[in-house]
Amino acid sequence: MSTGMQDGFGRQIDYLRMSVTDRCDFRCVYCMAKNMTFLPRQQVLTLEELQRLAALFVGLGVRKIRLTGGEPLIRPGIVGLCRGIAALPGLRELVMTSNGSQLGRLARPLAEAGVKRMNISLDSLDGQKFRAITRNGDLDQVLDGIEAARGAGFERIKLNCVVMKGRNFDEVPALVQYAIEQGIDISFIEEMPLGEVGRSRGESFCSSDEVRALIASRYRLLDSTENSGGPARYVRLERHPETRIGFISPNSHNFCGSCNRVRMTVEGRLLLCLGQDDALDLRGLLRRYPLDDQPLIKAVQQALRRKPLRHDFSPEGEVQIVRFMNMSGG
Ligand code: SAM
Ligand code: SF4
Repeated sequence: MSTGMQDGFGRQIDYLRMSVTDRCDFRCVYCMAKNMTFLPRQQVLTLEELQRLAALFVGLGVRKIRLTGGEPLIRPGIVGLCRGIAALPGLRELVMTSNGSQLGRLARPLAEAGVKRMNISLDSLDGQKFRAITRNGDLDQVLDGIEAARGAGFERIKLNCVVMKGRNFDEVPALVQYAIEQGIDISFIEEMPLGEVGRSRGESFCSSDEVRALIASRYRLLDSTENSGGPARYVRLERHPETRIGFISPNSHNFCGSCNRVRMTVEGRLLLCLGQDDALDLRGLLRRYPLDDQPLIKAVQQALRRKPLRHDFSPEGEVQIVRFMNMSGG
């Protein structure tokens, strides 16, 4: 493997999460405030700039790229961008995280363009609760999107669920049952204190240990050492081997020691850590050197040496980072 992407602690960075838009058709209560302002167009990287950066990172040793946002599927031209990135020599897999609202029409074109795996957010199976959490979302449209994704030929589909007390904790068993019926994976995520969303996060905070205990009261769980290259810890269900259950626990189980990733915002800021503010402005360099990648490569390698050892999220859920998750590329 290329050593072009090693950080100051010897961690090999081979996973890039790229945000392709900060905009979204939903306003999930843990991700955004009710009223949001989005970036003006000239501050957003063009499709050509996104493609150029993806190629540069793959050249440096990135093997997995996840496109995310905001909602990646509302970015015009997203299928062509996927096709271009998936074709980069050296990339092992292109994957995506989506809220599912546009998958009814886009699942098949995306799979044909080379997207290998799809993560789809699903926080509730109750239409009203779903609407309350997403503020704008239509549950039936997302369920149709999941159905379309299952028929489209992705290698794997995983649901992502942010668990909150008083909102959807009681739905965890139903969500597990739904994943079993669909033959897909599901990960439960602890809410992270990113951005001021207009409510206290500590009150609804729910640890992965509580979620696991609730599932274990209904299903026999088998620990697993499986790893999908991200921060989730997995268990299997004794009677349902098709479905893996993941726990993403940024607050209660720090996973920074094995961090292999960096994020890029759609403004071209390379975030060295989701839970810290330090970033490198790649957009300025991209536009200053339209034909020469060397200054960008040098700047990326220098920035990686500053990648922090760990984030400092606490279970109390105090906001430490003013950036919203839709800006970070979740
Ligand atoms: N719009 C897409 C979606 O919702 O899947 C992709 C972007 S979204 C920011 C990526 C993931 O981040 C989603 O699974 C979402 O549930 C999660 N997320 C957003 N805000 C979060 C927060 N404050 N804490 C934990 N997870 C969060
Ligand atoms: Fe949109 Fe995803 Fe954030 Fe929800 S979590 S508001 S779907 S970007």
